[in-house]
Amino acid sequence: MTIEQDALQLSGDEMRTLGYRMVDMLIGHVEGLHDAPIGRKAGRGELEALLREPVPDAPGDPVALLERLDRDVLSNMLHVDHPRFFSFVPGPNNFVSVIADALTAGFNSFAGTWFAGSGPAQIELVVVEWLRGICGLPETAGGLFVSGGSMANLTALAVARKAVLADRIDGAVAYTSDQTHSSVKRALRVLGFAADQVRVLPCDDDFHLPLEALGQAVAADRAAGLTPFCIIANAGTTNTGAVDPLPALSRLCKAQGMWLHADGAYGAPAVLSDAGRPLLDGMGAVDSLSLDPHKWLFQPYETGCVLVRDRTLLRDTFQVMPEYLRDTQGGSEEVNFGNYGVQLTRSFRAVKLWMSLQTFGLDAFRAAIGRGIALAELAEAELRAGAPEWEVVTPARLGVVTFRYRAAGMADDQVDLFQSRMVEEMMTDGYALATSTVLKGRPALRLCTINPRTRDDEIRETVRRLAAMGAALAATWPPAPAP
Ligand SMILES: *Cc1c(COP(=O)(O)O)cnc(C)c1O
Repeated sequence: MTIEQDALQLSGDEMRTLGYRMVDMLIGHVEGLHDAPIGRKAGRGELEALLREPVPDAPGDPVALLERLDRDVLSNMLHVDHPRFFSFVPGPNNFVSVIADALTAGFNSFAGTWFAGSGPAQIELVVVEWLRGICGLPETAGGLFVSGGSMANLTALAVARKAVLADRIDGAVAYTSDQTHSSVKRALRVLGFAADQVRVLPCDDDFHLPLEALGQAVAADRAAGLTPFCIIANAGTTNTGAVDPLPALSRLCKAQGMWLHADGAYGAPAVLSDAGRPLLDGMGAVDSLSLDPHKWLFQPYETGCVLVRDRTLLRDTFQVMPEYLRDTQGGSEEVNFGNYGVQLTRSFRAVKLWMSLQTFGLDAFRAAIGRGIALAELAEAELRAGAPEWEVVTPARLGVVTFRYRAAGMADDQVDLFQSRMVEEMMTDGYALATSTVLKGRPALRLCTINPRTRDDEIRETVRRLAAMGAALAATWPPAPAP
């Protein structure tokens, strides 16, 4: 295949060859996942040798490049969509959304203004409205699609800063627990809050934001002449799936004139399942909510979403109208999503969720989310019925279970080291991957089971292999010091 020297253009036949090859590659990937290892992490030296080169002046063959990508790049990563990838938060996307993503790139749909992208804006209005209803926020609420949970948190907290503080942050204080995602800390930092303006309260025994300590902190700050302005709650923590007491937090915020933001980037979609709904009680009472459809709504990266109870506040916070966008102003019924957040040029993210919801229907999403919750319960049951060395640290909750392997007579510091070695063993084995986290200062292994394509036997085999690895490691413990 040759590329015309005078244009960045392929012929129709060349586009078809390349496009069909890409589709075959994608389908091969999806269909081969159960039989493939979870992926690999290459060393920097190995990748430098494979990929470091000067930028080419001359054309190359894009079909050959696809093969090279497949062999040298896409194989050197962990497959977050793999049914036995239980680390961090898996990314079990669906093929319909993948095609939607390819389409938006192909049409280069501009979703920043109504003038340039009225159709995309209308779809975004519709899908945001669906999510609003699903999450139980009132009709005054609205929002927009963003790159992910981090940007959703940043966007929501910028609205809180404007709405509660009129952007005057001196003496303002935000409250959250030590289980809150790091992106919240980063968002507050980006928004200008110094570290001492953020109270990070130690969570209670169940990993929740402790109400009593929170009330005391707010009162103490007020007595000291400071301005408590915002509580950031978790609607499902990444660590353990814990949901902070949203109804009580909402009452506290109302009484104190504070903003309640809930980070639902991990857990919010669980409201769609019978098992998750009661746990997320009160989610509709928040002032703003972060969602991450690229996690538990099965979308490709980058699909995040933020909802704000009073949607007019989004425009109050972000709208700026420069002279070169005059023609886009339009009537009030013309929504310019570029004025609702940080990004002006933005891709048509909403279509991914729109196409997959239209294709599969919401019932399929409900079932898929319910399955993720049940898989963690199965894993917990397997651990409890399995080797006596297993210690369940937090029970299955919103698709997350945490645990550790404690060989008889092993000292605490050794137990901690042991869990990290278990992760290394899993990476070497390649069958499944759980990673570790730290809970109350102690390392624990963690399975996040939101991939609905995971089979029951894969959960059982994962726990069985983990136990075998634990026994083998314990037999040769402590490990020989590195040479
Ligand atoms: C993943 C996650 C985030 C960050 O979202 P990104 O999409 O990675 O930017 C924020 N909060 C929680 C609870 C998360 O699980």
